[in-house]
Amino acid sequence: MKLINFKGIYLPKNDKTKGIDFTPLRPMNFYNVPLKLPNISESEPCVSVGEEVKEGTLIAKPVGKFGLKIYSPVSGKVLNIFDKITSNGDYCKHILIMNDNKNEYVDLPEIESFSDVTLIDRIRDAGMVDNVAKMPTFMKYAYTGSKSYKKLFILMDEIDPNCTINQTLAEFKMGAVVNGAKYFMNITNAPYITFVFTDKNKRIANMLREYIAKEKKNYDYRIKFIPNKYPFTNPYILTRLLAGKRVNKKTSFLDIGVTIETAESCYNFCRAVEFNKPVTRKMVTIDGDNVIRRGNFSIPNGVSYESLVDFVGLIEKNVDIKLIEGNLLQGRAQYNKEISVSLNTNSIVIMKYDEFYEEYETNCISCGKCVKVCPMGLNPERLEIAYMDEDNDELDRLKIQTCIECGCCSFVCPSRRYITQRLKDAKFYNKNNSGGK
Ligand code: SF4
Ligand code: SF4
Repeated sequence: MKLINFKGIYLPKNDKTKGIDFTPLRPMNFYNVPLKLPNISESEPCVSVGEEVKEGTLIAKPVGKFGLKIYSPVSGKVLNIFDKITSNGDYCKHILIMNDNKNEYVDLPEIESFSDVTLIDRIRDAGMVDNVAKMPTFMKYAYTGSKSYKKLFILMDEIDPNCTINQTLAEFKMGAVVNGAKYFMNITNAPYITFVFTDKNKRIANMLREYIAKEKKNYDYRIKFIPNKYPFTNPYILTRLLAGKRVNKKTSFLDIGVTIETAESCYNFCRAVEFNKPVTRKMVTIDGDNVIRRGNFSIPNGVSYESLVDFVGLIEKNVDIKLIEGNLLQGRAQYNKEISVSLNTNSIVIMKYDEFYEEYETNCISCGKCVKVCPMGLNPERLEIAYMDEDNDELDRLKIQTCIECGCCSFVCPSRRYITQRLKDAKFYNKNNSGGK
């Protein structure tokens, strides 16, 4: 018998955006669509300046194996194609489209069959992004060789208190999520679907049971609950928790036959199959005490932060704000309001600058708190020292590459050490110096 201790932290609960259905954004004048998703894919434009497009027109094609098909989020005219900064500080090509307010759209062709090959092609053609595995979704299913996925988990919930997109889709778009999950089951070897909720959302799990009992016959599924502990929705932790298997340097999710999708990917899959819609929008939670309309939004690809802030409104207008893309432990503070929302933006937190208490780090007091919470069983204190000493062998020995950058160590550190930021740099340093053994 193996004893497994799942570490992590309980985050303060924030239910301000829970139970609010998605609000579509009002039409904007300009959309600036990024052609590279950080850590995911790169695409190249296939339209020219001056060309007219409709919502759903293919505007960028994949570059190499990890590329993505990108579709226009609006009908209008291509005004420019130029390099611009993205939310992670990189530069990439963007396509600037001016809205012509004609609301014309073009769909994907009708799907010909429901075979696994056709369904996988539909994932590729719809431009679906896997925000869990961080890759274009079709990559996971198109190159499986003789292996297959035998367990399919659908994440119906979040643990991050500033993101509620999956639980909102599970609650308000249940039919599409359930159908999309079935399409995912068709392209795997999973004998049934496992819907995963945190134990705080038993109500939606009960709604799902009732819905399937009422609407669907022959729908083989299970429901599993996980504790509402951060970062349990991380795919590495989730796989250990639900399948009892560990993904490491020598194995991949495919090797152990586990695939994890989200309510959002099921929703997109259903729309692509049943309504022939490519992905042109992203579901995003916008939160923060100074936000008038905090909630969940369906945001077209390429809307700028500035337009978003204008749309949701601020209670106190004449204050400096801090805008964080991602959750409070892992997200990035943004320095440029021209940056566009992309297909991997999940949440945005807007804070008044004085809400954000800047503290400077002090010396490590060796309290061991960071070690106690690290969900990957690492020693963040020693890793930080090894990085500052540029001791690459020690970084290897302490398994720096298994750090999932969750931020738990920094969150609990009484000395406010910038551990996570340093460990991100340490992973990069280690990869460059030893190939990330
Ligand atoms: S950021 Fe890395 S070292 Fe820190 S708790 Fe998370 S996994 Fe552990
Ligand atoms: S939590 Fe902070 S102070 Fe405590 S051992 Fe870790 S780095 Fe040092």
